[in-house]
Amino acid sequence: MDYYVVPVSEVARSLKTSPTGLTLETARQRLTEYGKNQIEDAKKKTVWQILLHQLTDVMILVLIAAALISGLVGELKSTYVILTIIILNAIIGFIQEYRADKAMDALKKMATHQAQVLRNNRTTRVETSELVPGDVTLLEAGNIIPADVRFIETHSLKVDESSLTGESTNVEKTADTLPEGDYPLGDRLNMGYKGTFVTNGRASAYVVATGMNTELGRIATLIQTEETITPLQKRLAVFGKGLSVAVLVLCVIFFGVGWLRGEPILNLLLVSISLAVAAIPEALPAVVTIALALGAKRLVKSHALIRKLPAVETLGSVTYVCTDKTGTLTLNKMRVQEIYESPMFALPVLETSNALLVAMALNNDVVTDKDDNWLGDSTEVALVQYASSQEYERVTLETQFPRIAELPFDSQRKCMTTLHQTPNGVLCLTKGAVGVLFDQLDASQQSSIPDLRQRVDSMAEQGYRMLGYAGKWLPELPQTITPATIESGLLFIGFAGLIDPPRDEARQAVAECKAAGIIPVMITGDHKLTAKSIAQTLGIISSIDDLVLTGPELSKLDESAFDAIVEKVRVYARVDPEQKLRIISALQARHQFVAMTGDGVNDAPALKNADIGIAMGITGTEVAKEAAHMILLDDNFATIIKAVKHGRRIFDNILKFIRYIMSGNAGEIWAIFLAPFFGLPIPLLAIHILWINLLTDGLPGLALAYEPSERNSMKRPPIDPRQTIFADGLAWFILWVGLLIGATTIGIEAWSIYAGIGHWQTMTFTVLCFSQLGNALAIRSRQTSVFSLGLFSNKPMLGAIGVSIVLQLLIIYMPFFNNLFSTQPLSASELGITLAVSSLTFWAVELHKLIKRQTTTSIGELDDSGKPSAYPY
Ligand code: ATP
Repeated sequence: MDYYVVPVSEVARSLKTSPTGLTLETARQRLTEYGKNQIEDAKKKTVWQILLHQLTDVMILVLIAAALISGLVGELKSTYVILTIIILNAIIGFIQEYRADKAMDALKKMATHQAQVLRNNRTTRVETSELVPGDVTLLEAGNIIPADVRFIETHSLKVDESSLTGESTNVEKTADTLPEGDYPLGDRLNMGYKGTFVTNGRASAYVVATGMNTELGRIATLIQTEETITPLQKRLAVFGKGLSVAVLVLCVIFFGVGWLRGEPILNLLLVSISLAVAAIPEALPAVVTIALALGAKRLVKSHALIRKLPAVETLGSVTYVCTDKTGTLTLNKMRVQEIYESPMFALPVLETSNALLVAMALNNDVVTDKDDNWLGDSTEVALVQYASSQEYERVTLETQFPRIAELPFDSQRKCMTTLHQTPNGVLCLTKGAVGVLFDQLDASQQSSIPDLRQRVDSMAEQGYRMLGYAGKWLPELPQTITPATIESGLLFIGFAGLIDPPRDEARQAVAECKAAGIIPVMITGDHKLTAKSIAQTLGIISSIDDLVLTGPELSKLDESAFDAIVEKVRVYARVDPEQKLRIISALQARHQFVAMTGDGVNDAPALKNADIGIAMGITGTEVAKEAAHMILLDDNFATIIKAVKHGRRIFDNILKFIRYIMSGNAGEIWAIFLAPFFGLPIPLLAIHILWINLLTDGLPGLALAYEPSERNSMKRPPIDPRQTIFADGLAWFILWVGLLIGATTIGIEAWSIYAGIGHWQTMTFTVLCFSQLGNALAIRSRQTSVFSLGLFSNKPMLGAIGVSIVLQLLIIYMPFFNNLFSTQPLSASELGITLAVSSLTFWAVELHKLIKRQTTTSIGELDDSGKPSAYPY
């Protein structure tokens, strides 16, 4: 049915509903009938696809080929071992990918939206997925339209439909029936479509289609899913390609040299293939995703919900946190502390002519829930509560002077107006930022402005949030209602000063933020003096160099003038959300990495453009949440800093993982590649290499993700996102640790052969394996010794090393494995020597850290002036 060409009453009839909404029972039945109101994710992988994905990996295919070759030439033992290794690899890969997928699913579920609907004639909030055709939904600025709807009633409603129509201007919507005809989507002015969003005004509407039956559902398969490759993954992919080529070249040389030396071809081939498989870090980008997804899951516990995975990685690079004030730095628990009534406005229709209290009761959008609690914007709730405490009840006054029109609040105008019918004509009441109201006062009021301004400023200086009221009378409701016509020529009614106490934890978080080399900046729509006072209380402003800039001042600055001071501004007051974009670009132009919070619909572009856009979970609009990279579930500034700390930890741990894997792999390459050049036989069999790769890359590598934060993680400057992964001496570390592992392996091989020990290969195999475990243990911290970290501070690592040792011992001592892996039981003294030699890597890495600690005691820490003394690594 073309709902846009039929009257609203007809729409209701055909959907078997009414303006009071569906009953709970009907809604339940329809949900079973029509299914959930959600778009099915066509790209979601099934369990089988995840499994298949493991088995179609290039490296696995190469291994399968190796298993076949061994089988064909009768080396069945190798075939079995390689196949077992393939299966184990696939199982580990599957579990990891499945867990990461589940973690991402859980995050997505948490980020679902809610919609306001009328059920049983009461306003309730339900999950968007539970909407059914026939529901009456209530929409306001900032809402994402939850389903396809036909408007019943609209007030200054504007909708951004660019996601569906590509048209970037906002469309004004009405409830009027369109003349018979065929209209393209963009011209159906009385319809709203799922996924588009309300930028202005309010409306009520009938849900006409849900889920895959909506216009969005029809094109869902065409919608591109977002790219989730992180900067680190991109760098790793490039690096990985280069490394793969290098490893392949080495394998070819190794093969060639072995061939010339007359080594058995099959053995050579298998060893070369195994070496390539083991040394090419093909899984690194995937491991990064897993670490990020699991990190994101853990971040939820700290009330930070990640919407875009790369944000976890980039959190550690933030240098500026630009935050809202209300609710983030303050508690958003408003209370009217003081009011001031101007004698200039009269309300002839009321006996008790307290115009200010009448205006406070009438000019707001608060509603009561079923338990009679006030719901709505906390500033408005506080004002209504105050009026009510003075016996000016909203409900009574609303019945007496019904609202007949309105100009909804928007943060650019910084005010809102309601128009009420009275016996004396139409009463217009405007509430908003006091300075804004002053500009709209009637000429007759100009002389009293200086005095009023002084009163307002002296309260704002103490941190009060100031809200003013003004009004005027009209003989009748005008045809057109625009801010220009209604919000001008006003008479001042009075103002209220509200307190909104700063959050206790925000002070501490600001200090922690500064210690971590991150600059906190407050951006608010509030009065300059209010903002400054709160910024001082919280420590955001702590010296005379810290600047406060207002929106109007900012708009007067040209680019270069702003550029010159942007890094010094700590408070932006009276800014329009649009100016947030300018602040971000100016900071980014100076190579700063900006996190920006936002809640309103106008904040969406800033949230998208910030390096990390952070939306408020409680007060934020859906549009803001949709645009953000991260959502603060508790709207608390301190949570941002906790998230940064986690982000730094996760990034550190990923880097540790890379260090560990790369240095271990380098050790394997050196050992195998160099042995023939010393006239030694190939130290290991192909299955030994594969086993080591499986054992050491698997468990201990994963356990590194559980490593707690480095002690100085919040006392060092942010990670420069432009640095290469080698910036922290990684290349050097890989080189020397790799050479050391290679040298000890070849060393034990040479020594045991020289000493005539028949078990030389088992000893060599075990040294290479245990050296890597020692490396894993020592790599846990970049600087702190493991003894001071405490062995038990990362129990999974302890467990991983324990299990790996036991498995290796089984291979050495169990006849079944002796047979499979061609190993022999070692005597006590042989095992002792093996362990002693293996521990060399651990001691060497610990010694390296000791030297680093002594030569650079305060490396990376911030000095008293807050400047980093050196790069942390
Ligand atoms: P922050 O950006 O820190 O959350 P804010 O709440 O002051 O601060 P906005 O919501 O953009 O920012 O509001 C800007 C100004 O508009 C406020 O300082 C206040 O003076 C005025 N204002 C806020 N809410 C309303 C409202 N519901 N009705 C009328 N005026 C309002």
